[in-house]
Amino acid sequence: MDILIIDDDAVDRMSAIRTLRQSELSLDKIDQADTATDGIRCAAENGYDIILLDYQIPPSNGIEILREIRGGNDYSTAIVMLSHSNDENLALSCIEAGAQDFVMKSEITASRLKRAILISQERHSLEQQVRESHERLRYIAERDSLTGLRNRYFFDEALRDAITKNSRSGEQLVLMLLDLDNFKKINDVLGHQAGDSLLQEIARRLENPIRKSDKLCRLGGDEFAILVYDLPQLEHVRLLADRILKSLEKPMIIQGQTVAVTASIGVATYPLCATDATGLMKCADVAMYRAKELGRNRVQYYSHDFHQKMVSRMQLEFDLKQAIQGDQLILFFQPQLDTHSEQLVGVEALIRWQHHDLGIIQPDEFIPIAEESDLIIDIGRWVIQAACRQFSQWVDAAQGTHIHFSIAVNLSARQLKDHALSEFLQNCLKQYNIPADLVELELTESHLENSLSAIEMLNSLSDTGVKLSLDDFGTGYSSLSHLSQFPFSILKIDKSFVQSSDDEKQRTLLRAICAFAHSLGYETVAEGIETEAQKSFCQSLNVNRLQGYLFSQPIPAQAFENIWLQGTI
Ligand code: C2E
Ligand code: CA
Ligand code: CA
Repeated sequence: MDILIIDDDAVDRMSAIRTLRQSELSLDKIDQADTATDGIRCAAENGYDIILLDYQIPPSNGIEILREIRGGNDYSTAIVMLSHSNDENLALSCIEAGAQDFVMKSEITASRLKRAILISQERHSLEQQVRESHERLRYIAERDSLTGLRNRYFFDEALRDAITKNSRSGEQLVLMLLDLDNFKKINDVLGHQAGDSLLQEIARRLENPIRKSDKLCRLGGDEFAILVYDLPQLEHVRLLADRILKSLEKPMIIQGQTVAVTASIGVATYPLCATDATGLMKCADVAMYRAKELGRNRVQYYSHDFHQKMVSRMQLEFDLKQAIQGDQLILFFQPQLDTHSEQLVGVEALIRWQHHDLGIIQPDEFIPIAEESDLIIDIGRWVIQAACRQFSQWVDAAQGTHIHFSIAVNLSARQLKDHALSEFLQNCLKQYNIPADLVELELTESHLENSLSAIEMLNSLSDTGVKLSLDDFGTGYSSLSHLSQFPFSILKIDKSFVQSSDDEKQRTLLRAICAFAHSLGYETVAEGIETEAQKSFCQSLNVNRLQGYLFSQPIPAQAFENIWLQGTI
């Protein structure tokens, strides 16, 4: 056993050594130090089994020395305090500061000292075990088991701590949120195990560019956060973010497959962007969302303007949810005329939102928002149902005479993911007793996916007997071969062609489009007709139907019914 005695009193040291020798402990080495500095140095250099530490070593006191010895989290040695005082509070303070026992010098006998040393050693070893298991538990609690990075729990604590510290020091704290761009797809295609391996590889790569002092955490799923302390300039943050994106550039080999992964990073700084942890997190999230919106694989810094836009957009999304349940959505109707007879042959239903504060909102403003969430599914179904109900009311209004116009409803490409849509449509047709061939579904060309599932869905819609119409034809990329895979029977020529038909080149193009469409047996509709000249030109091309402001704007159901029944359209 190696022992160090720290005591400024030479007589006390000698007496301690004598008692130790009488104690039958197996002693290998006894060192002595007569000053605090010497003692602390000796303890740090040699690593003793036991230190006997006098409480009174002017100018220090024993607790200060104790703290100094334990300072660097060194718990390797058991420490017994020796003192002339029998103050119990003092003894307790020593134990609290990290000593294992406290013995009064006047009580020291060989057996008392031996017992103190043995008990101290035992207690010390137990404390050590507790400390180790505590450390282990902490490690488990703070680590993400998949990647070994720090986890969300650690991150939340670290962020709060950092903000408290930095609010005092005035230093800058940078929060980067990183979200993988295409992880879900990879997970779906290659499976969860491959997804896990990929996350491990990414965690490994992300560790390279960041400094030791910064904290890289996995927040869950494919989301990571990096807390960057005291980076003085934004330029450095930019360099770091670029290095992070670069670290992912090299393709990864996962289960023998080459996988390319990119990420979007949102950056927010404290105290510039926010005053607390929740606020900072929100800002970084907003910035990350913006990075995704701008095309992914990029770094975006938080901007207040964008935040405002997002808040009002979120508000709109929230209001839209209410609008579907309340009676705020309505359909307007725009007539379509036969090109030559100029008789009413169709009507297109166009949605409007009567917002309680903002008045009428046009579909271009809220359909894209609905398309980003699942709201479009509900809205789409609402439109089909409302259009069918309206049509059946017109059948009633016709009082037995045959209705000679069809009704067209717009579908969003995202509705093709609504697998029960054909069934829903069929039920509506049945419920309102509407012949399927009087209903047309319009799908915008540019949003159409050439996927098997989309084609299947269109076929199943077409199987209900309704007609399918390709909207805004000419603005998308449908090649001719591509077009023939879809069950469309009507092409709606985009209004941009009609409206630029003053230009000779455009006229040639429109002529070619019509010739092509007719030769393949498609029915054609020209929309956006505003002038007599445009009308005449479309007539000369034998377009089947005409639609546009020249004949009527989209109008409420009652207004449409009036002009139809009065024959003024
Ligand atoms: P769209 O299907 O191409 O509808 C034609 C748009 O052109 C309508 O705008 C209509 O009011 C407008 N329009 C009609 N004639 C003329 C004209 O002579 N000149 C000009 N400049 N414009 C004309 P609206 O009603 O604002 O609808 C915009 C788009 O919103 C629609 O384009 C359609 O893509 C979408 N939309 C409308 N209703 C629905 C719906 O119920 N469901 C879905 N998914 N989308 C809808
Ligand atoms: Ca349309
Ligand atoms: Ca259109």
